[in-house]
Amino acid sequence: MIAENLKRLKDSLPPDVELIAVSKTKPESDIELAYSAGQRHFGENKVQEMVGKWEALPKDIKWHLIGHLQRNKVKHIAPFVHLIHAVDSLKLLQEINKQAAKHDRVINCLLQFHIAEESTKFGMDMEEARALLNSDTYGEMDNINLTGVMGMASFTSDGAQIRSEFDQLKNLFEHLRSEFLSDKEDFKEISMGMSGDYEVAISCGSTMIRVGSKIFGIREYH
Ligand SMILES: *Cc1c(COP(=O)(O)O)cnc(C)c1O
Repeated sequence: MIAENLKRLKDSLPPDVELIAVSKTKPESDIELAYSAGQRHFGENKVQEMVGKWEALPKDIKWHLIGHLQRNKVKHIAPFVHLIHAVDSLKLLQEINKQAAKHDRVINCLLQFHIAEESTKFGMDMEEARALLNSDTYGEMDNINLTGVMGMASFTSDGAQIRSEFDQLKNLFEHLRSEFLSDKEDFKEISMGMSGDYEVAISCGSTMIRVGSKIFGIREYH
């Protein structure tokens, strides 16, 4: 089923939208099936789980850390992570920069914004992002590459609300780009959209969708 789900999904996507297959809680055998079907970008939300899978699976997989990241865990993923989606503070960015330098790497990062109604979802607002980008500390970081923004819409069946939250993220992205990063070609990603809302997200300008259950089936937490 996984290969078929993946193919059906990929065939329906615009060619310039990157698909991140979210494999959290799923066994390595499921990832291997998707890998055999050509998928290379995978997303995980737990550091330990991602490290284990990275060790066991082919090294050309591009690993995306999509969940909240604690500073003391950055060192475990610094040797290999492809993109960190959920950067929500200057302190976290500093730690990523420091650990990346130890491995002589430049790590790609997205700034996570709080766009949902629920107060439980992590992320910054525009003022916090401005302060971060204006800081000398950010200006001195040589080992991180800010490639865009990420956000999660509210968990709701109200399509209009979801659309307005995605529109909001797209606007934030455009503002940041013109205010701070207009000469930075790498700043181009808007990571938004999951199994239930990726079509809306794409119509709102998403460049990167994070889809789990629609590929791998529903998750059982234990
Ligand atoms: C789990 C998760 C996803 C994927 O969710 P699905 O609904 O299974 O597609 C996407 N983004 C984040 C941040 C997640 O934690």
